[in-house]
Amino acid sequence: MTGTLLPDWRDSFPWPGAETHKHARGRLGVVSGKATQTGAARLAARAGLRIGAGVVRILCPPDAAAVIASAVEAIMLTPFGSPEALVEACEGMDAVVIGPAAGLTEATRAHIRALAVTGAALVVDADGLTVFEGWPEGLFEVLDRDDVLTPHEGEFKRLFPDLLETAREGGAAEAARRAGAVVVLKGPATVIAAPDGRVAVNDNGTPWLATAGTGDVLAGMIGGLMAQRMDSFDAARAAVWLHAEAARGFGPGLIAEDLPERLPSVLAALY
Ligand code: AMP
Ligand code: MG
Repeated sequence: MTGTLLPDWRDSFPWPGAETHKHARGRLGVVSGKATQTGAARLAARAGLRIGAGVVRILCPPDAAAVIASAVEAIMLTPFGSPEALVEACEGMDAVVIGPAAGLTEATRAHIRALAVTGAALVVDADGLTVFEGWPEGLFEVLDRDDVLTPHEGEFKRLFPDLLETAREGGAAEAARRAGAVVVLKGPATVIAAPDGRVAVNDNGTPWLATAGTGDVLAGMIGGLMAQRMDSFDAARAAVWLHAEAARGFGPGLIAEDLPERLPSVLAALY
C-alpha cells in the first residue's frame, strides 16, 4: 500500500468489537445461478466472508445444491424453488447479492422484485441488471437508497441508454438519482454515486482486474460490508478500493479466486 493515502472510510469500517459473535457480524445471502453456473455465487460468497460478514449463505436452485455443497466449507447453503421460498430463505439476512450468473430469465426478475420488499439491503449485479433492459423502472421502483447496483459499462448502457454520452461521473450521478440507489459504474476508474449526490472516483485498479469473475468478487465484498451495516455508499467505496488494492498486491497472473485470499493482508494493513 506504499504511496496510497489512508482511505477516509477507515474509521467507519466495521471492525469487530471484543463482545461480537458471528450473527452480530452480519448475515449475507448470495443467490446462485443454475447447476452449471455456480462459480460466480461461490466467488461472491467467499469474498463476503473474507471481508468480515459473520455468516454467509448461498441460496440456490435445487438442481445446483449438490454442486455447491461439494465446493464450500464455511459457507452455508439453502435451496429454493420459488420467489416465495427465496424470500423465506432470506429471513434474517442483512444483505443479499443477486445477479451474478443468475440467468436472463423471468425468474431472475421475479426473485429481485421479491427480495426488494424484504428487510435485506440488495446488491444487484450482472444478469440482475441486464434482465431489466428495456424495463429499468421494473427494477428502480422496488429499490431503496441503501441498495447498490454494480454495472460495468455494458450493463450500465442497457439500463441507462440515454446516458451513453454523458461523462462517467455525471452519468453515474444521474443514474443513482433515477435508480434511487447507489450506483457503482465499474471500469479502469470506478465511479461510485449515491442518490443524495455523493460521488467518488476510485482509480487504484490495475488492468489485471480485467478477468472473469472479478466483478462477482466485488459484489460479494460490497454485500459483505453492507451486511455489517456499513453505509452503502461507504461500503461500495471501501470495497472498490480494497478490491483494487488486493489486485495490486498480486499483479500479473491474477485470477478472481486470488482476490478474496489477498483481503486478509490488505485489511491487516488498515486495522
Ligand atoms: P466485471 O466486468 O463485472 O467482471 O467486473 C470487472 C472488475 O474489474 C470491476 O471491478 C472493474 O472495475 C475491474 N476492471 C476491469 N477492467 C479494468 C481495468 N482495465 N483497470 C482496472 N480495473 C478494471
Ligand atoms: Mg460482472
